[in-house]
Amino acid sequence: MTRKTLVVGNWKMHGSKEQVAAYFSELQKAIQNSSDKLLNEVVVCPPFIYLAQAAKLLEQLPQVKLGAQDVSGFTQGAYTGQIAASMLVDIGCQYVIVGHSERRQYCQESEEEIADKFFAAKATGLTPILCVGETQAQREEKRTESVVLGQLQAILTRQGVQSFQDAIIAYEPVWAIGTGLTASPQEAQAVHLLLRQTLAEYDVGLAQRLPILYGGSVKSSNAQQLFAMPDIDGALVGGASLQASEFFAISKV
Ligand code: PEP
Repeated sequence: MTRKTLVVGNWKMHGSKEQVAAYFSELQKAIQNSSDKLLNEVVVCPPFIYLAQAAKLLEQLPQVKLGAQDVSGFTQGAYTGQIAASMLVDIGCQYVIVGHSERRQYCQESEEEIADKFFAAKATGLTPILCVGETQAQREEKRTESVVLGQLQAILTRQGVQSFQDAIIAYEPVWAIGTGLTASPQEAQAVHLLLRQTLAEYDVGLAQRLPILYGGSVKSSNAQQLFAMPDIDGALVGGASLQASEFFAISKV
């Protein structure tokens, strides 16, 4: 079975109007001047405030899709500062990251809140990219499996395995995010397989179709070894996605 492959760039809190314009102009040139094939889907997730500008620029670059870094779990109302899934669709987003470890850590997002966001995204037709992953301490305590399966379970208990129809999972070991440390392809593969096998206990076909991305200090020099693993279907890229040329190099098959 061939699964969709993707590379998703998470800019986090970086950028300016000028940088957004320069980035997409450079990415467009790189894509147009290259005969290399790209992964099935290339997605860029700028900060909310630059989504409209990016959407306009991407009209000239249909190979690249737009995503957001977060979404409200509420549909609308008195939630100052929050952005609804319907607004992300309105502005041209197709994807949204939910449960990123930086939000779990700095915004104390609970499993319940993350599930609310996941289902709010799904209800509007956005593709949620659910981030799961263990911390350094949890890995040392040999709790990687129970942590990632617990994060998966928080979604499964709400609406069962069908929740993951048209969704994406990103395995992002927290100790590998922004640290320069990467899980070895074998370490990452083991967790990806665990996630897929767990979902396969409920629905084999769905588990086989579900893209599972790896995230954690991915760059062009280590991407290919990771992508060569049977259950790694692409990457969620932070730091290395900020340079258009580097992001493009990661996106090449
Ligand atoms: C991320 O932010 O999801 C991430 C994986 O960051 P980095 O690539 O910088 O480790």
